[in-house]
Amino acid sequence: METMPNWLHKRASMTPDRVAIIENDTQLTYKELQIRSVEVANALRTKGIAKGNHVGFFMQNSLEAAVCLHALMYIGTVIVPLNHRLTASELSFQLNDAELTYVISDDELKGKASEALNDLNVSLIVYQELQKGSQDLSNLEVTIELDRLHTIMYTSGTTGKPKGVMLTYGNHWWSAISSSLNLGHEVQDRWLCAVPMFHMSGLSILLRSVIYGITMIIKPRFDPHVVNQSIQHEGVTIVSVVSAMLRRMLDDLGEEGYAPTLRCVLLGGGPAPYPLLKTCEKKGIPVYQTFGMTETASQLVTLSPEYMLQKQGSAGKALFPSEVVIGDNLPPGEHGEIRVKGPTVTSGYWKRNEATQEALRNGWLHTGDIGYMDEDGFLFVLDRRKDLIISGGENVYPAEIESALLEHHAVKDAGVTGIQDEKWGEVSVAYVVSEFELSSSVLLDFLSKRLANYKLPKRISFVDELPRNGANKLQRNQLTNLRETRQ
Ligand code: ATP
Ligand code: MG
Repeated sequence: METMPNWLHKRASMTPDRVAIIENDTQLTYKELQIRSVEVANALRTKGIAKGNHVGFFMQNSLEAAVCLHALMYIGTVIVPLNHRLTASELSFQLNDAELTYVISDDELKGKASEALNDLNVSLIVYQELQKGSQDLSNLEVTIELDRLHTIMYTSGTTGKPKGVMLTYGNHWWSAISSSLNLGHEVQDRWLCAVPMFHMSGLSILLRSVIYGITMIIKPRFDPHVVNQSIQHEGVTIVSVVSAMLRRMLDDLGEEGYAPTLRCVLLGGGPAPYPLLKTCEKKGIPVYQTFGMTETASQLVTLSPEYMLQKQGSAGKALFPSEVVIGDNLPPGEHGEIRVKGPTVTSGYWKRNEATQEALRNGWLHTGDIGYMDEDGFLFVLDRRKDLIISGGENVYPAEIESALLEHHAVKDAGVTGIQDEKWGEVSVAYVVSEFELSSSVLLDFLSKRLANYKLPKRISFVDELPRNGANKLQRNQLTNLRETRQ
């Protein structure tokens, strides 16, 4: 079995004085982070947590949350990150499903945690109530086995009930290595984490920062102004975002550009609307479009910087150790399911044999996303197969209509889904959040200059807000429940 030193342990011995984490006015060096993590690991052991236990991680982004995650790695538990935006009953499902024995919450979330725990036989530990533990290393994991389970990470639940993705230390290791082979990393890098650490996007920043020996700047939640201030004044070099976040950051930025220290805006999690990419191009913002999923321990395909303009809209090529094909190796230009392979890909879903067998076939992960490859082998992601609308025999991709709607200057947010239709089988309907009063006929007219007739939405409804999940992703399956604010 392949082993390597515990990442934090090794990092703290190699570069103890580098800054590991910054949160507001507090910062920890790698040595300080390691000391604290060992103390917390021993405190948690005193509470009964042991190697191999499935432990729920229920904390908001914070320095303490980072320490807690490292402490759990020192103990060697399987970490089950829990989304605190879920309702108590949704949480109960995950607590049960993941066979947790303990949940660690922070002070603020303890009420919600105990509500979710209700009658379950799971113990709640509140991080702030822990006594200081010892520095004893004798029962801690200073060596890791690469094929040991590190996380059961639930998918975002954008299309249905979240599934627990099993990820090993090796999956995370390879994810960090593949990303750095593409983005490079420099000693002075500072990676801003305003995405939740309970999702792959946030957790990957924590793991990469310790493997690379760079600094992670933590924000408790996403606030466009706070993020922009951090980029402008805290020397951020990399930031991970989804398109809804980036749009709000650009609104807040106004006419300004970003500080030259910012070298990479890693944009993933969903389709990148064309107007957004155009604005970034105009402003000289270094966007790296990327495609990945929880099942691939975050990014798997990324557009290298030299192709940013030439291949705008593409998610790029598979990272160095990974592969991507369309369907059964379809020729360039043909649409089909995106299949991926590589050392970051999960070995399956926790307790979901059927879903695992469906997703993992002949060594390839069937992503459930549709895309195509251009002549030069660049991947273009079209949409989720589940969201595809088939109208009069033609394929209609909601993401394309959303992108066209967002080109209108009054449209702040847009979501498109399909509904049954007697004549066409299915038709698209659009939900729009607009900056000012706008009629649907004006918008339809605008769209008709950009989209073929069969793609035009049958109806456009104006709403206050679109349903987004904990990862800020549009939940298209909830659009039709929205109440219209005006006709
Ligand atoms: P669930 O699987 O529970 O429905 P989810 O798929 O949103 O939730 P994640 O694993 O967080 O959960 O997200 C991965 C998905 O995000 C991909 O399968 C894809 O649909 C979408 N996605 C990621 N990157 C891109 C991209 N560049 N373009 C389009 N879609 C993307
Ligand atoms: Mg998914």
